[in-house]
Amino acid sequence: MHELAIIEGVLDAVTERLPDAKISCVRLEIGALSGVVADSLQFCFELATEGTSLQGASLEITQTPGRCRCRTCGSEFEPAGQILLCSCGSADADVLSGQELKIASVKVA
Ligand SMILES: [Zn+2]
Repeated sequence: MHELAIIEGVLDAVTERLPDAKISCVRLEIGALSGVVADSLQFCFELATEGTSLQGASLEITQTPGRCRCRTCGSEFEPAGQILLCSCGSADADVLSGQELKIASVKVA
């Protein structure tokens, strides 16, 4: 499962950096085009944090909008969902932003 691997990466990063801290909240920023499902992340987070210093911590997810540039007409647009379809009808577009996935902050209890 993609989401579980992401959460495990987040947990590794947090426990490595803050090995003795009790964590109360983790905030993630997820691009709308990352293909990651926020609900799945929540679910995996609860499973994966059991028995760790992050147990009981909350996960806050901020979604950042996607941004593309059409290769056919050159206009920039915000895609609907994962589908890069420009208003000119072309689906040939470069992704400018929206694929990132990062830890925005961690709150220590
Ligand atoms: Zn276009």
